[in-house]
Amino acid sequence: MSGPAPAVPVSAAAIAEGVRSGALSAVDVTRRALDAIDAQNPALNAFIDIFHDEAIAQARVVDHVRASGREVGPLAGVPIALKDNMCLSWGRTTCGSRMLAAYRSPYTLTAGQKLIDAGAIIVGKTNMDEFAMGSSGESSFFGPTKNPHDHTRVPGGSSAGSAASVAAGIVPVALGSDTGGSIRQPAGLCGVVGMKPTYGRVSRYGLVAYASSLDQIGPFARTVEDCALALETISGVDPNDGTSADMPVPSLLAALNTPIDRAVIGVPKQAHDPHNHPGVVNALGDAIDAFVKAGARIVEVDLAHVAHGIAAYYLVATAEASSNLARFDGIRYGHRATLAPTDELLDLYCKSRSEGFGPEVQRRIMLGTFALSAGYADAYYNTALKVRRRIKEDYDRAFAPNDRMGTPACHAILMPSSPSPAFKLGEKASDPLAMYLEDVYTVTVNLAGLPAITLPGTPTMVEGVSLPVGVQLIGQAFDEARLLRIARMLEGAMSQER
Ligand code: GLN
Repeated sequence: MSGPAPAVPVSAAAIAEGVRSGALSAVDVTRRALDAIDAQNPALNAFIDIFHDEAIAQARVVDHVRASGREVGPLAGVPIALKDNMCLSWGRTTCGSRMLAAYRSPYTLTAGQKLIDAGAIIVGKTNMDEFAMGSSGESSFFGPTKNPHDHTRVPGGSSAGSAASVAAGIVPVALGSDTGGSIRQPAGLCGVVGMKPTYGRVSRYGLVAYASSLDQIGPFARTVEDCALALETISGVDPNDGTSADMPVPSLLAALNTPIDRAVIGVPKQAHDPHNHPGVVNALGDAIDAFVKAGARIVEVDLAHVAHGIAAYYLVATAEASSNLARFDGIRYGHRATLAPTDELLDLYCKSRSEGFGPEVQRRIMLGTFALSAGYADAYYNTALKVRRRIKEDYDRAFAPNDRMGTPACHAILMPSSPSPAFKLGEKASDPLAMYLEDVYTVTVNLAGLPAITLPGTPTMVEGVSLPVGVQLIGQAFDEARLLRIARMLEGAMSQER
């Protein structure tokens, strides 16, 4: 071939189409993604590992399959990045921690294998808050990730590098994990689409557990269409994960093109918190206006227990984390401290864990151990579980109101994805409570197990820089198809406003 190589399209759907038709080569697309990582990563610190050789080898396979006339998958040649708490049988799986800085997994996570089977190319592993605990991307052992819109600001967390790499145009799709907002909050702060599926929709096999009853894997993308394409690929029951749901996976892409007539969008009273940044108030207002112009009806809903979400989440999540992280003791897994001749077994555990875990992870393990301890479990952990049930009931009522007042059932609930746009690096790093409050609009969705998606809303000017602001849509369990249709509707309506 002569002349310049064809321009690589920005969307995953278009790349896959180009590779399938032979207009693009997977190797070429992959090389450009790797070049983009090499060019941008020194400034962003979005990647912990970059798979130069493995990615090109995977791309060669895709090109070879196509050249031999066989069918290539729906993500053929699409470069994808994975958060570094996802196990691959090559490279390291560090969880952004010194504890696992040298850990190599013997196997590949189900969601990653499904991507590979669909023809995707895994180009690298992304930086993250240590063990997915954080909302800023600053607690990684490998240093903070920067927000591509302003390098003095955080990208959000904990899936910091996944959000930043999509926002920077390095990859069209990345996977993150969301335990209390770690996909939706950084998507909002970086101005991309990010979706947490229903609990059980995507297998957690091969995802290093933080809080097992809350963790879900989900995609980042620049469009709702690419998000649907990636989610459709990774969804489904898995014999290796007993909590994955045996539910049919509808064609999410096909669903997108059927608009919803007379959509009813619930806006919780609690979304209008006086502490919201003016840019967040403005973006929520613009999203409501866009929905109204597109023919939707807006109703007010009451999620009365949202106010207790942070307290309940930080008990349930830390309790589960304290148990999940017990295996990192320097013997079964993880960093092993050098011992003095007089040291004993207990010293090995204490020194290895004190050296291997950073301060936030240690704080969470202590909080969780306390919340579960004899004499306190009723006051803390069991009370948090009761609040969790109340939160779930609030959502159930909004989706299926059981009254005779004629209140319509909502198709989706609209809220901010976080109370402020991207904050400065270091601004909240020494104030854990301020950091936890970042999650006020996201954690209840995990406690209730529901699917939710963040879309880029109207940006806001802060100190002379235009910063993204996210808006979040929450749907009913296992109805990702409808949630994505409503998200597509909002995406279309908002792009017309601009
Ligand atoms: N920021 C929340 C936390 O620190 C959520 C993290 C996540 O979803 N993994 O726990």
